[in-house]
Amino acid sequence: MELEKVVKEMKDKGIKRVFVQLPEGLKTKSLEIADFLENRGLESIISLENTYGACDLRDDEASRFKCDAILHLGHNDFGFEWLKSKIPVFYVEWFSDKSGEEGFEKIEKALKEFDKIGVVYSIQYKKAFENIVEFLKKIGKKVFVGGSGQTTGCNFSNAISIEKDVDVFLVVSSGKFHASGIALNVNKPVFVFDVETNNVQKIDVNKYLKIKAWNKKIFEDSKSVGLLLSWKKGQIKDFELVKKKIESLGKRVYVFAFDELNENLLEGLKIDCLINLSCPRISVDDLERYRIPIIDYSDLFL
Ligand code: SF4
Repeated sequence: MELEKVVKEMKDKGIKRVFVQLPEGLKTKSLEIADFLENRGLESIISLENTYGACDLRDDEASRFKCDAILHLGHNDFGFEWLKSKIPVFYVEWFSDKSGEEGFEKIEKALKEFDKIGVVYSIQYKKAFENIVEFLKKIGKKVFVGGSGQTTGCNFSNAISIEKDVDVFLVVSSGKFHASGIALNVNKPVFVFDVETNNVQKIDVNKYLKIKAWNKKIFEDSKSVGLLLSWKKGQIKDFELVKKKIESLGKRVYVFAFDELNENLLEGLKIDCLINLSCPRISVDDLERYRIPIIDYSDLFL
């Protein structure tokens, strides 16, 4: 088991106290993980804050509690290799046992008109991904996998790298989060196989594109603009250039900082629109939650 190996490595390095960060889906396993560590001689402090990805690295908080290392469960450092931590970080992926086999028939039906299939997966569904790749080959499809095939919510390079080769993408995941990110970054149809529900669905991003176009129009007419900056380590971006560019359009720019954005944080702000420089998914998935229009900076200047 990967965790066992990591614990051994920690002990070899003389680590005594570990700060554990884990995604919401693994919170139910917190006590089990704490016991596992304790039984092997490691003291643990479990962060109750939501941890959505490797972008959220709490080395400052861990250091305040005199932890010697961070155990980041359910994520890897894919795409964030440039992050520097004050203390060692051990990433342990967490895999679902689901095989994906119950969805084979639906996948075959949904993809019947396509020959060349690009397959990507989100981290915990590696097993289902591997089974589905084998299945697609068996039924005569040409299967393409870019790099490891893995995708995160904000790094679609493995899909983009094979876009020219494929007719369609199949995303092995749960919900539409990863698949909609890919659909917005490629010009090929995207289907998601939800490993949890065994459903296959085509991703439609038209509604999002309409809201985005509308918000961009509001930006053009805005007199006051706010920049949204998260201080999560992997989300920090250089905002000064964006600020100058917007100011050069004759707009007044305010800079707002936070850890995790929610509607309450924006209560009372009287500003025409907001430009997101934090997690790019805020300006994709959550647009309807906010009463102030939000536009991703990449949609304006990249
Ligand atoms: S920046 Fe957003 S999408 Fe990317 S890993 Fe962090 S939380 Fe996930």
